[in-house]
Amino acid sequence: MKITFPYWGNYTVAFELLAKKLNLEVVPPEKTTPRTIEKGVKIAPEMYCFPLKVNLGNFLEAIEKGADTIVMPTALGGSCRLRYYAFVQDKVLKENGKNVNFVIFDQSLDIFSKLKKISGASFFKMIEATIFTLKALNIIEKLEKKAQYLRPREIEKGDTDRVLISAFRRMREIEKFSELLKFEKEIMKELNQIKIKRKKVPRVGILGEIYTVCDHVVNFEIEKKLGNLGVEVHREMSLLYHLKKKIFFKDFFIQRKIKPYLGSTVGGHGRDAIYEMLKYVKKGFDGVIQLLPSFCMPETSVRPILEKIHQETGIPFLSLSLDEQVAEAGIDTRIEAFVDVVKNYYQKKQKT
Ligand code: SF4
Repeated sequence: MKITFPYWGNYTVAFELLAKKLNLEVVPPEKTTPRTIEKGVKIAPEMYCFPLKVNLGNFLEAIEKGADTIVMPTALGGSCRLRYYAFVQDKVLKENGKNVNFVIFDQSLDIFSKLKKISGASFFKMIEATIFTLKALNIIEKLEKKAQYLRPREIEKGDTDRVLISAFRRMREIEKFSELLKFEKEIMKELNQIKIKRKKVPRVGILGEIYTVCDHVVNFEIEKKLGNLGVEVHREMSLLYHLKKKIFFKDFFIQRKIKPYLGSTVGGHGRDAIYEMLKYVKKGFDGVIQLLPSFCMPETSVRPILEKIHQETGIPFLSLSLDEQVAEAGIDTRIEAFVDVVKNYYQKKQKT
C-alpha cells in the first residue's frame, strides 16, 4: 500500500511525519502548482467547490508516482460539502481510469481502527504517533504566528521566510519526539535573532474557509504579501483551533455571540467568520480579509453579514473569492489597494 493525501500548506509536513511514524509507505503530495490545479479542474465536477478540484490534482500527481491509496478526511465535526469529497473524488478518479482505494476519516470515532487497518500499528504506537503529530502541528502553527509578527518589522526583507523555508525542509527529516523539541528551540532561537524594528504596525485579521486560509499556495501567500507590505496578520482559524473548538463545544458560545447577525448555522466555518470579524473589530484591528473558495456555500452565505459589520463599524473589509480563474497579478493589485486603505484607516486612528 502506497498512501497519499491532499497537500495542505505547511501541515503537509506533519501529515508526512505521521505516515512515517506509522511505518506507512507514503508518496507525499507535491506542492500544489498551477499545473496541479489545471489537472484537477479538468476532471472535477464544474460546480463543486475549489478545494476538491485542487485535491484531485494532488492525487493525480501522486498516482503518477505510484500512490494507490488515498487517505482523505471528510467533515471532522463540520457540516458542508466536505462530507462528500472523498466519495465524489473516488467516483471521479475511477471514471478516469484511476483505480485507487480510499481510506476515509469521518466524524465516526473509529479513526484508530482505520489507522490500525492500514498500518498494522499497535494501539501504543498509534497514541505515540498522534502525540508526535499534534506536537508537530503545534510547532508549525507557532512558526506561522511568529512569522506573522516578524515580517512587517524585519529590517532585511525576506529574512523570516528564509528561516521558515529551511525549517520546514529540516522538519521533514525528524523522527523522534526529543528531536522535535530540540528543533522547536533552535528555530525559535533563529527567528528571535532576526533583526527587527520594534514598532506598531497596522493589523489585519484573516478569516474564511479553513483550507484556503491555511494553504499558502492556494491563497497566493497572502500572509507573506501583507507582511512585506508592512501589515501584521492575525489568523485565528487553524487546524488545531478547529479541533479544540470541537473538543470544547465552542460552537455553542460562538452561536450565542453572533445571534444578532445570524440565528442558525450555515455549515463550514461560516459562523466563525462572523465571530472572528466581531472580535477583530472589538480588538481595534485596522482591516479584515475574508478568503473563500469559489462555490463555497457557507462563506458565500455570510459574506453579506461581514459587509454589514464593515458598514456598521467602518473597519476596512475585503472579500477574495479564489479559484482556477483567478490570476495572481489581480490578487496582488487588490491586496496593495486594500493595504493603502488599511494604512489610511490606521493613521487616522493614531491622530484621534
Ligand atoms: S467549507 Fe466551503 S469550500 Fe470548504 S468544503 Fe465546505 S463548502 Fe467546500
